[in-house]
Amino acid sequence: MMDKNAWVEQAPVGLLAIHGDSTITHINTMLLKLLNYEREELIGQPINLLFARSGKLFFLTHVFPLLQHQGLVEEMYLRLRDRDGHDIPVLINASKVEDSKGAPRFLFAMMPIQRRFIFEDQLVEARKEAEQALMAQREATDALQSAREELEEKQAQLLRLNEQLQRLANTDELTQLANRRSFEEQLEYQLALQKRQSGRAGLMLLDIDHFKKINDLHGHGCGDEVLCKVGKLLRELMREVDTAARIGGEEFAIILPGVDEQGLQTAAERIRKKIESTRWRHGSVTMSVGVTMVRHDDSREAVMQRADRAMYQAKRQGRNCVEIA
Ligand code: GH3
Ligand code: MG
Ligand code: MG
Repeated sequence: MMDKNAWVEQAPVGLLAIHGDSTITHINTMLLKLLNYEREELIGQPINLLFARSGKLFFLTHVFPLLQHQGLVEEMYLRLRDRDGHDIPVLINASKVEDSKGAPRFLFAMMPIQRRFIFEDQLVEARKEAEQALMAQREATDALQSAREELEEKQAQLLRLNEQLQRLANTDELTQLANRRSFEEQLEYQLALQKRQSGRAGLMLLDIDHFKKINDLHGHGCGDEVLCKVGKLLRELMREVDTAARIGGEEFAIILPGVDEQGLQTAAERIRKKIESTRWRHGSVTMSVGVTMVRHDDSREAVMQRADRAMYQAKRQGRNCVEIA
């Protein structure tokens, strides 16, 4: 059997008792070891001796008054100071009791929490590192995202620029119709389709009658205006699938995919009438039109020559009419 004192002495927690005037009356081995004191150095000394500077103030203004008033203090965190001046953090439970003569005594149980502090510091450090890593990752992701957006914007710009260039390269500036180069490309394409017998197409050549006179009588600017307006009318009259182009000074051509001979003539007649009936600033404008169907194994030159011959036939017939070849 252990005696009463050995039990207290060897308890794995610091134990301390003080008088009402705060002088130390009892201190157990665990606390002496923790603070590196000999018992004789502390008995009869004020408890203040054991506190670090900040701990002292907290003890006097908060812990001790609370203890006197309530008789119990639980889980208070305080900093002790050992004999060599090192800080020793402890968790304190304390209670107020009365001795045999009814005088107040205060009992303290002090549990060192240094190790827990180290763990907490390590935990805080680890969390900080994890947060920093996360932040760095976020920043990298953001940078990547904005780089990607920039690249996409650049690609879109390039695409728009290419489209613009493509349009410029294929368009007649004055009339905004297809130009000769683009017309020839489209005609080649239709001829290639014919070779595979996968459809039909018609070709229409249109030449403004006595255009020279318009220039001579009303000026080159007026001539340009007529060309421009003819372009606009052709754009309005043709179907989505058709290609209308200005292929020379006052010569226009239209490729009509999928049309038959009857449809081709009707379309030509409709255009001729529209030009004739349109009100022009300087007077009247008419056009002579030659049409032909694209034939199997036609070359571009052959089909153009046929359409040209038909157009000149229209001129010979007195102009402002449609001829087919
Ligand atoms: P025809 O009825 O026989 O076709 O007579 P035409 O006077 O229309 O024929 P011609 O080919 O002799 O004249 C075409 C004129 O078109 C000659 C040229 O000065 C004019 N021309 C060509 N390109 C342009 C242009 O871009 N703008 C203007 N204003 N005139 C042009
Ligand atoms: Mg002409
Ligand atoms: Mg001409």
